[in-house]
Amino acid sequence: MKNTIIVATGNAHKVTEMAAILDGVRDIELVTMRDAGVTGDIEENGTTFEENAKIKARTVAALTGKPAIADDSGLSVDALGGAPGIYSARYASVDGGNASDQANIDKLLEDMKLIPSGERTARFVSAIALVFPDGREYCTVGVCEGVITCEMRGNGGFGYDPIFYCTAMAKTFGELSAEEKNSISHRNRALEQLKVILRDIEF
Ligand code: IMP
Repeated sequence: MKNTIIVATGNAHKVTEMAAILDGVRDIELVTMRDAGVTGDIEENGTTFEENAKIKARTVAALTGKPAIADDSGLSVDALGGAPGIYSARYASVDGGNASDQANIDKLLEDMKLIPSGERTARFVSAIALVFPDGREYCTVGVCEGVITCEMRGNGGFGYDPIFYCTAMAKTFGELSAEEKNSISHRNRALEQLKVILRDIEF
C-alpha cells in the first residue's frame, strides 16, 4: 500500500520538485494540502525557518490525520544580520503581503549598496519538516553559500536568483539551468537529508 504524505504548500511546483527528488524512496505518494481538502493559509508566526516549517507541517498533520511535509526557505545576508531571512518573500512589502521578486531584489541591492565586495556573503536556507499525527517530528536544513552581486545576472529561476552568485557553480542562480540549480540548491540538500530519514522510519 502507498504511504500518503500531505505537502503543506499551495505551490504545485514545489510538490513536483519534491516528488522528483524523493522518487523511489519507499512507496510514497505526495498529495497537496488543497487536494487533501485543507483550504486557507496557515499563519507562519515562528522566528526561524525550522519553526515555520514545523508549524505548517503540524497544522496539516492535525487537520488531515496523515503525515505532512512542509518547507520554509529564504535568503540570509551576513552584512544585514541575517535579513531578509524568514521575511524573504515580503522584504519589500508595503502592506505585509508578499512583494514582487523585482521589488525584493531592488530593495536588497539598495540596502547593500555601501557593502564592499568582500562583505557580501549570503546563503539560501531551506528547512523541511516532516510531522506525523502521532507527534513524531523530523526537520532537515539545507544551505547553499554564495555572494550578493551588485546587479542582476541571468533571468532563470525566481525570487532572488539573479543576484545570488553561487560560489560552487561560479554563476548566479539566475544563470543556471533548472537542473544545475536543483543539483546544488538548499532545497535539494534538505530533501536529500529527508530522503535518508524516510528510508528508515515507520509509517
Ligand atoms: P517560501 O519558502 O516559498 O515561502 O520562500 C520564501 C522566499 O524566499 C521566496 O519568495 C523567495 O523570495 C526566497 N527564496 C526561497 N528559495 C529561493 C530560491 O531558490 N531562489 C530564489 N529565491 C528563493
